[in-house]
Amino acid sequence: MFGRAPKKSDNTRYYEILGVSKNASQDDLKKAYRKAAIKNHPDKGGDPEKFKELAQAYEVLSDPEKREIYDQYGEDALKEGMGGGGGVHNPFDIFESFFGGSPFGGGSSRGRRQRQGEDVVHPLKVSLEDLYLGTTKKLSLSRNVICSKCNGKGSKSGASMKCPGCQGTGVKISVRQLGPSMIQQMQHSCNECKGTGESISEKDKCTQCKGEKVVPEKKVLEVIVEKGMHHGQKITFPGEADEAPDTITGDIVFVLQQKEHPKFKRKGDDLIVEHTLALTEALCGFQFVLTHLDGRQLLIKSNPGDVVKPDSYKGINDEGMPMYQRPFMKGKLYIHFNVEFPDYLAADQVKALEVILPARPSSQLTDMELDVCEETTLHDVNMEEEMRRKQQQARQEAYEEDEDTPSGAQRVQCAQQ
Ligand SMILES: [Zn+2]
Ligand SMILES: [Zn+2]
Repeated sequence: MFGRAPKKSDNTRYYEILGVSKNASQDDLKKAYRKAAIKNHPDKGGDPEKFKELAQAYEVLSDPEKREIYDQYGEDALKEGMGGGGGVHNPFDIFESFFGGSPFGGGSSRGRRQRQGEDVVHPLKVSLEDLYLGTTKKLSLSRNVICSKCNGKGSKSGASMKCPGCQGTGVKISVRQLGPSMIQQMQHSCNECKGTGESISEKDKCTQCKGEKVVPEKKVLEVIVEKGMHHGQKITFPGEADEAPDTITGDIVFVLQQKEHPKFKRKGDDLIVEHTLALTEALCGFQFVLTHLDGRQLLIKSNPGDVVKPDSYKGINDEGMPMYQRPFMKGKLYIHFNVEFPDYLAADQVKALEVILPARPSSQLTDMELDVCEETTLHDVNMEEEMRRKQQQARQEAYEEDEDTPSGAQRVQCAQQ
């Protein structure tokens, strides 16, 4: 890697920054850094430049390999990339990894391990027209943001104290005497600090957020509903959920909820529309106007000679839904036909129809065959209604069996109808 021998450069400055001798032990370095870093921490009003230098010096000298390079060739050698150390690390990371968190009771939020904030999920009602044409919905939401006045510290001074109620642990332990030699310990979240372990004195509380660290903010989000999006599809705004100190802000997620359309049903990229034809239309041809989701008037007509059977479908290409992210391509439009038959025909109508319609099946019954048959009468039934009544009857009978008294006494049967 190194073609030339590196020039010797300054190799004493880091020792001077930390205020230790060249042969300081690891322990000496730690003590020196700790003392100086706390004194110079910007959160405590120290000089950020000095704080950075301290971290830099400590980072190098606490690493035996880097220290050797530094002792031998000086600062420039390290900057040129010897010792495998890339760029300089965030001085706050070094500081806090040293202390395993901030020694100021949560005073600093930089470089600390962050919690993942929760996502906020909102249903978003859209019409089928919205999904066909695409639309933009402006939504006004209220969210918590880190208080700008105190940078989420909650206090004027930036400092906070350990909660006196829980000594900074965020939990309280209560002890209950259950018997002469038995106690019960219960642990619960500290009510004084809401489990944060911190407390801010009344007169130090930030005037803007009153010590809450966050303030509510109204925000207008523009939700772009693209052509062809689906029911249940998510539209995500990363990092727009509630902010909180030491927390990676979650997302706001909108979940599309398609409202039922009075005319069109959607199946994937296809659309289905119901249409009822009169018998004459089904047999002799039809035409009708269908207003599409974008307001276009489609003329829908049968091909000459076509007969439409009840419960049959016909399709039109490229009149379905636009495909998501390929809106120039569209699915199919299906028409589901229902045919209305007349309830009754007069005798002369029957005669006239017999002339026109295809002949009856040829198997006419002979008088002899008719003689051996029994006469029946057809009557109209509503099949759904019949089935419902039968089910009800079965339930009633089961119920009555259950209700039979143990003595076997005859129950008075109630008439059902
Ligand atoms: Zn507490
Ligand atoms: Zn504040």
